[in-house]
Amino acid sequence: MGVPVKATCSECLTTHYANLEFGQENITCPACKHSMKNLPEGELNELDVATKKQRTNGIVSLVCFAIAAFGMLEWAFTMKKDDVTVWMAMTIVFFLVALVFGVLGSTKRFIVEF
Ligand SMILES: [Zn+2]
Repeated sequence: MGVPVKATCSECLTTHYANLEFGQENITCPACKHSMKNLPEGELNELDVATKKQRTNGIVSLVCFAIAAFGMLEWAFTMKKDDVTVWMAMTIVFFLVALVFGVLGSTKRFIVEF
């Protein structure tokens, strides 16, 4: 699996998307072959935990968005339009939850310069 990061080479300034694997010896630039020792295990682990948390937030966001979108469509096509305040409030809450988790899921990007 590895930890997805953005890696910038200090020699030729090329930026590429790398997957840092646990146990991988070096980070190597695909353009100029400049390489540096991989990050220490502890740091990799921290990045791994953070990116997994973000992925989870992203999934929660998508699920909430799907529920909210379903609620909207349900309201638009099948429900009587007189007493739907609670339904709409729920839908809006799900949209807001989706928004919050969407933001949480996309805040941090890790850039490794080597
Ligand atoms: Zn390079």
